[in-house]
Amino acid sequence: MNTRYIFVTGGVASSLGKGILAASLAKLLQARGLSVTIQKLDPYINIDPDTLNPYEHGECYVTVDGAVTDLDLGHYERFLGENTTQANNVTTGRIYQSVINKERRGDYLGKTVQVIPHITDEIKRHIKILGNTKKYDVVITEIGGTVGDIESLPYVEAVRQLKWELGKECLCIHLTYVPYLAASHELKTKPTQHSVKFLLQSGVQPDVLVLRTEHNLNEDVRRKVALFCNVENGAVIQCIDAPTIYEVPLLMHEEGLDSVVLRKLDILNAKEPDLKNWISFLDKFKNPKKIVKIALVGKYVELPDAYKSILESFVHAGAANEVKVDLHLLQSENINADNVNDMLGDMKGILVAPGFGDRGIEGKILAACYAREHNVPFFGICLGMQCAVIEFARNVLGYKDAHSTEINPKTGHNVVDLMESQKNITGMGGTMRLGAYPCNIKKDTLAYKIYGQEMIQERHRHRYEFNNDYLKEFEDHGMIASGVNPDNDLVEIVEIPKHRFFIASQFHPELQSTVLKPHKLFVAFVKAASEME
Ligand code: GLN
Repeated sequence: MNTRYIFVTGGVASSLGKGILAASLAKLLQARGLSVTIQKLDPYINIDPDTLNPYEHGECYVTVDGAVTDLDLGHYERFLGENTTQANNVTTGRIYQSVINKERRGDYLGKTVQVIPHITDEIKRHIKILGNTKKYDVVITEIGGTVGDIESLPYVEAVRQLKWELGKECLCIHLTYVPYLAASHELKTKPTQHSVKFLLQSGVQPDVLVLRTEHNLNEDVRRKVALFCNVENGAVIQCIDAPTIYEVPLLMHEEGLDSVVLRKLDILNAKEPDLKNWISFLDKFKNPKKIVKIALVGKYVELPDAYKSILESFVHAGAANEVKVDLHLLQSENINADNVNDMLGDMKGILVAPGFGDRGIEGKILAACYAREHNVPFFGICLGMQCAVIEFARNVLGYKDAHSTEINPKTGHNVVDLMESQKNITGMGGTMRLGAYPCNIKKDTLAYKIYGQEMIQERHRHRYEFNNDYLKEFEDHGMIASGVNPDNDLVEIVEIPKHRFFIASQFHPELQSTVLKPHKLFVAFVKAASEME
């Protein structure tokens, strides 16, 4: 079967959930036996989000091959349970960089290089890269932004051209919003009509409309939208607010989205979707036997998207333990020696989050200290592990000035230091230690008990590392390295065997937790927390 291409565009407002819609449709098609992947095209000029402040963009998601990408790729992986790569996320910056490099090489043979056809051809080439691998029956491409944005124009033009070239092997799903006017008890379709007009002005006729709404849409509303937007009645799909994003695939199936898509793409022999395991996850998620209070100590807590994958990992691990994780996002800047007992006193587990720079670092170190001294389950991730190491050096080894050279380059005890390979790097974008690396787990450790295997692969995004000059001293005093990179001896996991549950990783386990395969470290941490009385 030729690869089919589905485009997901958005109108009326941003943040309507194009990523979740794309992931939900992909899940349904996968559950019907098709092989599917999802791609995100981001209309900004950064090459990737690596240098963006989390307040701007939310979390940076890292793929196995070391691409720093949009957080929607996290949703794609969590829904599909399959890895994405650099090819699954393309930005305008990357498109232009590639075109400009070709121009400098002389590839355009004296032609004037223009948005059409050169930029649009490059966009089309990136869309087709995934299809050309012949691995996928369906490639779903989500176009970031909202139609009508200046930045989105070349992408919409590329969609127009591909729809023309591919005919029935391609379709466009447009996601809009139907607001409800409480005063007159009315659902309004005009914004949807205008948004479709925008698309039509660019020559793109949407094949399916998905209407995001907070109230059920009656037949009249659906018929009206169908009539004004040239879309058949059955292809106007309601997407009502759901209590969890993981419910959306089921809602979309009830609405018939997957059937409409298959019919329009001429895919005739797909079976009914098998969603048994998905439904059993939802059952556990909705019927927790217990609530477990866990603190997430970080500095971007005003914008939970900065910790998206961690939040979702707790949803997966909560369901696996049949508990609800009541996560308290605590601003590390507000934690000090006077209030730490009050702030963390009734937490059954403490996670210290990843991050960069010195803001809020002392609060994170205090949180690690509190967990260690009070025997409260502790889980540190990346900077969170580095904080646990600094805390141990200061308060157990007695090196009061111990620090990471990221924060204090002049510290007398650089227990966390720049990796050798990082010392001569000057550029900031895409130059950290990125992507999946192997880690050897030592037997008879908590890490081994959790993973149940000696060799694992986990994803990284950092420049600094545990300083091995101090390893023996740490181990002699009760903090051991239980996971080590087999190629260069970098310490990837530390733990305190005497503690009830104290583990921290230099890598980011949250990037590999999925609905049907919750990450073992999160599952074990939530279990330890739920066993606290
Ligand atoms: N800032 C630290 C480093 O670069 C930790 C990074 C992180 O938490 N992702 O090593």
